[in-house]
Amino acid sequence: MSGIVVDTDRFDSLIPLLAEGGYTVIAPTVHEETIVYDEVTAASDLPIGWTDVQEAGTYRLTERDDGAYFGYTVGPRTLKAYLYPPRQTLLTIEHAETGLAFCPEPVEPRKYAFVGVRACEIAAVEIQDRVLIDNDFTDPHYEEARKRSFTVGVNCSVAGATCFCSSMGTGPRCTSGYDLVVTELLDSDSHEFVVRSGTEAGEEIVQSLGGRPTTAADSLRVNTIIADTEAHMGRSFPEADAYELLTNNLESPIWDSIAERCLSCTNCTLVCPTCFCSTMDDITDLKGTATRIRSWDSCFSLDFTNLHGHSVRSTVGSRYRQWMTHKFAYWYDQFGSSGCVGCGRCITWCPVGIDITKEIAILESQSKAVAL
Ligand code: SF4
Ligand code: SF4
Repeated sequence: MSGIVVDTDRFDSLIPLLAEGGYTVIAPTVHEETIVYDEVTAASDLPIGWTDVQEAGTYRLTERDDGAYFGYTVGPRTLKAYLYPPRQTLLTIEHAETGLAFCPEPVEPRKYAFVGVRACEIAAVEIQDRVLIDNDFTDPHYEEARKRSFTVGVNCSVAGATCFCSSMGTGPRCTSGYDLVVTELLDSDSHEFVVRSGTEAGEEIVQSLGGRPTTAADSLRVNTIIADTEAHMGRSFPEADAYELLTNNLESPIWDSIAERCLSCTNCTLVCPTCFCSTMDDITDLKGTATRIRSWDSCFSLDFTNLHGHSVRSTVGSRYRQWMTHKFAYWYDQFGSSGCVGCGRCITWCPVGIDITKEIAILESQSKAVAL
């Protein structure tokens, strides 16, 4: 595996190269005053010269005073939208001569190249792999999409006010899970990209891009950029043992306090790159064909917890508690890691600005006060 340094002209050939290789290229782009992942055909589709200003409950785009290609952080759309789509047909049941024919939905042979993926997002995909592939049941649609996908990671050169990947150990440096990783080197005199391969497929692209070999000075600049990003991380996750803290405080008054603010709108779970809850709908037509469709759902929905005609989590507080305890405690029991990568999306996109880092810190200080 090798590293090169390319100028903007050479870097601009990356997206067409991936498209020539049969990939549908997905990258950040400006859409409705937000930076979201979408299909792109050229580097000019990237949010060049834009940045995002995020805080709890707010998101604004502003122009930068330079031509940075990756001078922003994460937007509301995640790779989950492509690898585990919001609506997926799973099965069709039709009348056949011998009875009923059960026809699983064929797996779509689409190849995605994801460009501009942040370290926390790669970590989120690795978590979803554990849930949807390395588990008792494998989702064939997700597994095939993952096998065929190509990932171009980006080491973050800016940190958002709601980012806390550093304290979750998932960023801002991409350390695994990429075919290529890019670091943007931008100053008043030059604009270049350090591109390193992480797989054979990535190495082929490096060879095609050309460019000069990296030097020790380039590596030093990369390390300085990443260290600076880390130093400007907007938030951090409390150092407390979240598993212990949460499971020892299931009846804490904090859940009622959060419930007074939480709208149970589900935004936090829909923007979260690791949340995977879904529901099934069986739809029949007049010919007698039934189609089973899986759609994203949320533990914040009252219907999601409906069992035998009643919701087992009828209060907003109990549903918020379920979300938080699953993310930071029971996820370890099920999948061996936290369910949070510190991307900060649930903080930014919560319409009332509920901040999980702050709520955990409050819980921690309340617990300490009780222990005194
Ligand atoms: S819980 Fe929030 S910060 Fe953690 S991964 Fe999900 S959206 Fe990101
Ligand atoms: S925490 Fe915020 S985003 Fe999540 S359900 Fe409640 S109001 Fe909606």
